[in-house]
Amino acid sequence: MSSKAPLYNRLALIGVGLIGSSIARAARAQGAVGSIVATARSEATRKRVAELGLADQVVETAAAAVEGADLVIVCIPVGACGPVAKEIAPHLAPGATVSDVGSVKGSVVRDMAPHLPKTVHFVPAHPVAGTEYSGPDAGFAELFVNRWCILTPPEGQDTAAVEKLAAFWRLIGANVETMAPDHHDLVLAVTSHLPHLIAYTIVGTADELESVTRSEVLKFSAGGFRDFTRIAASDPTMWRDVFLANKDAVLEMLGRFNEDVSALTKAIRKGDGDALFEHFTRTRAIRKGIVQIGQDSPVPDFGRPHPDLPQEPLPKPYAADGD
Ligand code: NAP
Repeated sequence: MSSKAPLYNRLALIGVGLIGSSIARAARAQGAVGSIVATARSEATRKRVAELGLADQVVETAAAAVEGADLVIVCIPVGACGPVAKEIAPHLAPGATVSDVGSVKGSVVRDMAPHLPKTVHFVPAHPVAGTEYSGPDAGFAELFVNRWCILTPPEGQDTAAVEKLAAFWRLIGANVETMAPDHHDLVLAVTSHLPHLIAYTIVGTADELESVTRSEVLKFSAGGFRDFTRIAASDPTMWRDVFLANKDAVLEMLGRFNEDVSALTKAIRKGDGDALFEHFTRTRAIRKGIVQIGQDSPVPDFGRPHPDLPQEPLPKPYAADGD
C-alpha cells in the first residue's frame, strides 16, 4: 500500500450540510477515501450535492448509502441520529466503522449504540469546528485545520478502528483527543453550549426592546453585541437538539453562571471596583491563553478588515491653514 493509498475505500455521508460537505471536500482534497457516497433527507439537498460534485454517488436513502461502505459518518442534528442508526443497521457491512459529528455525545451513544450490530465499530466523534452557516454550500475543505476532533469510543472498542478514524481526522487537518462521552458533554456545555445560550438570550432581549431603541441596537451593533449576533445566527434545529440532548450538563453550567452573574451584579451595585477589576483581569488572561495555544488569531477585532480613513479634504472651518 503506497503512502497515498486512501485510509478507507468507501465513505458514506448521511447528511451533507456544513459539516458533511466540509468532510467531503477535505477527504477528497487529501485522498483520504477511495470514493464518497452521500445522501440527505431532502431532494433539494441531494440535488445540490450532486450539482456541487461533492460525492461520487448521491443516493436517496441512508440505507442505500451505507451498502458496501467501510466508513459511515452521520452528519445530521443529534436528535435525528437514533432513527437513522435503526434504518442503516441491517445494511451495514461487517467491519465498517460507524461515526457521527454531533455536538453532544452522551445522547448520541445512547440513541445509536442499541441499534448497531456487533459486527461494526462504533466510534462517535465531534469536530469542534463550525460557522454560523448551514447547508452543502457552506462547507469548505479547511474547516477542521488546527481544530480539535474529540472521539468518544465506547469502552472496549477495537483500538485499531479508533486509531484509524483518528488518522482520518488528522489527515483532514484536525487534532484528535479521546474522552468519555459524559465528560465531553460537560466540557462542551461550558465552552460552547452556554455561550450559545447567552448569545441567543442577549440578542433576543435586544429584539424585544421598544422599536426605537431596537433600531439603535442594530445601528450601533459594532460593539460586543455584533459578535453575539453572529453566534445567535447559528442553525435553530441543530441548537434546539443540542440543548435538549445535553440538558443536565447545560443546567449544571447555567447554575454556576447565574451565581457568577449575581456576584458581578452585587459588585456593580456596591460599587466594588476591585472585584470587577480582578474578575476582568482573570478573564483577559484566558483570552491570552487561547491565542497562545493557537486556537484563535491575535489580530485585533477578530481579524476583521477595517476600512480606510476618508480621503476627502476637511471642510474649511476645520482644515489647518496650508502655509
Ligand atoms: P446543516 O448544515 O444544517 O446540515 C444538516 C444536515 O442534516 C442536512 O443534510 C439535513 O438534510 C440533514 N437533516 C436535518 N434534519 C434531519 C433529520 N431529521 N433526519 C435526517 N437528516 C436530517 O448542519 P451541520 O452544521 O452540518 O450540523 C450537522 C451536525 O454537526 C449536528 O449534529 C451538529 O451538532 C454537528 N456540528 C455542527 C457544528 C456547526 O458549527 N454547525 C460544529 C460541530 C458539529 P436536508 O438539507 O435535506 O434537510
